Amino acid sequence: MCGIVGYTGKEQAYPILINGLKKLEYRGYDSAGIALEQENKIVVYKTKGKVSDLEEMLKGKNISSHTGIAHTRWATHGEPNSVNAHPHLSASGKIAIVHNGIIENYDVLKDTLIQDGIALKSETDTEILVNFIEKVKEETGKNLFEATQLALKRVIGAYAIVLMDIDMPGTLVVARKGSPLVIGLGRDGDYIVASDASPIIEKTKTVYYLDDDEVGILMPGEEMVITTLNNERINPKLTELDLTIEELEKGGFDYFMLKEIYEQPKSVYDSMRGRINTEQKIIRLGGIEPYENHILESDRMIIVGCGTSWHAGLVGEYLIEELARIPVEVEYGSEFRYRNPVIRPRDVVVGISQSGETADTLAALKLAKEKGALLLGICNVVGSSIARETHAGVYTHAGPEIGVASTKAFTAQVTVLLLMALRLGYLKGTIDRERYEKLLYELEKAPELIEKVLQTDLQVQQIARVYKNATNFLYLGRGVNFPVALEGALKLKEISYIHAEGYPAAEMKHGPIALIDENMPVLVIATKKGNYDKIVSNIREIKARKGKIIAIVTEGDKQVAELADHIIEIPEASEELSPLLATIPLQLLAYHIAVMLGRDVDKPRNLAKSVTVE
Ligand code: GLU
Repeated sequence: MCGIVGYTGKEQAYPILINGLKKLEYRGYDSAGIALEQENKIVVYKTKGKVSDLEEMLKGKNISSHTGIAHTRWATHGEPNSVNAHPHLSASGKIAIVHNGIIENYDVLKDTLIQDGIALKSETDTEILVNFIEKVKEETGKNLFEATQLALKRVIGAYAIVLMDIDMPGTLVVARKGSPLVIGLGRDGDYIVASDASPIIEKTKTVYYLDDDEVGILMPGEEMVITTLNNERINPKLTELDLTIEELEKGGFDYFMLKEIYEQPKSVYDSMRGRINTEQKIIRLGGIEPYENHILESDRMIIVGCGTSWHAGLVGEYLIEELARIPVEVEYGSEFRYRNPVIRPRDVVVGISQSGETADTLAALKLAKEKGALLLGICNVVGSSIARETHAGVYTHAGPEIGVASTKAFTAQVTVLLLMALRLGYLKGTIDRERYEKLLYELEKAPELIEKVLQTDLQVQQIARVYKNATNFLYLGRGVNFPVALEGALKLKEISYIHAEGYPAAEMKHGPIALIDENMPVLVIATKKGNYDKIVSNIREIKARKGKIIAIVTEGDKQVAELADHIIEIPEASEELSPLLATIPLQLLAYHIAVMLGRDVDKPRNLAKSVTVE
């Protein structure tokens, strides 16, 4: 997820672009760059780091221009350095592009470019796209706008792009599929385009939200032209913005955390994008492919993580043992690194971290490397320390997570672990064909199912109102949903400062049951699959002690519904999928209670986003 801005008009482009990037920096901040049209050429400045580093770099440079594009990056292909930073130029230097998204068939397009002898400078999918557009332009003799229409017909993936071409001075060409792009129509005929409306609102409130499979051409003082990829003209429906800048950055949500909770259908989809093919019934995890045999022949896997990532690791343990029959242990990074663990060369150690910078996880991985283990990483941030330290890995591609309490990073980690478990189980032959295909099918449907669970929001809010003044909470789950209970309790602690504990439901009788009385809310994950009957018995035990029960149940459940004080229904799915669904109401419950208590949801006290200290 990157931020892109473009401007063409009478004003100086640079201040508009740089201020626009600052507003979009929440979308990615590993590198930044700008391309300006100047006297028949395009000049590009880009650097690793933040927008402020770009500003610094440009001090004293000639930045005078009326047409330009700019980008703040969240790397998906190639590490965050100045070569991979956008804008990218085509081989001739005539066309410049900024891109937000992922080109899935970039390797196929790359082969055609290599056959043509085109030398690529970066490791990005974006540079391939701009060169592919140039190739189509040269081969067909069309202009940039028409060549973009034609080229995009052969592109698979997601993109919002803005292009400029020295052969079309003062002009921006825009297109989108899957990633957002807003066009602002200035009063004096100028245009400003951006990933969201926050860089636009100061200049104009009249915007057009470009739709999927649309291409547009913007020339100052001229009517904007929007077409389909088949060059059919579209009559664009303009919108008048009535949001504040703050609201816009958060996409209209009150907090980043809520925005990120609501992004989960998309982020889970992005974690699977290009990796799962239900037609061919295949999963491909390119990052770890060369090591698959090594993993299959290993004695065991050790997953290390901290906080939410550790919980994802526990879900992973269940999934990998169940589907791929490889023994798995899950360790806290901090404990592992300091207790002289037994690690052998036939062990595979997997580090999970959203930021890829978690100090304890990183140190645990380094230790395992010294002892000769194979290291894998599951990180969200491309090019992060853990990504570099490990031999191979799988990025979660959840996009930047701003809220300190992790939400979409957790479901993305679980998605990747499920893909990994399925892939390994398939290769090893430990999962029968029918179950494999069913899980593949359900996984592909997961974004839709999550969308459905999000509809429980209002109901969860009502439950939050009832229990917001509780001083303790208990969260119970069994099997794969035990770590979900831990994660639910952690969310509540983190942002509402209410004490909460997660427990395996059956363990309750070995201690926590002593705490239960009419003031103790107990959240139980009681979905139909898994140990349903056992969890019903656990619920009866709580009821007998007058505890208040909030149960997450499978749609249509009658038995638990009769016992519980509140139920939240989630769609029916295999047990392996249930953490992806059951987690959502727990995130919402923590969120609403925290808001009702007046907490600073995005920046809870004493916590930091990326824990780079021990
Ligand atoms: N795929 C492009 C890159 O790696 C764009 C990244 C994005 O939008 O997340 O640079």
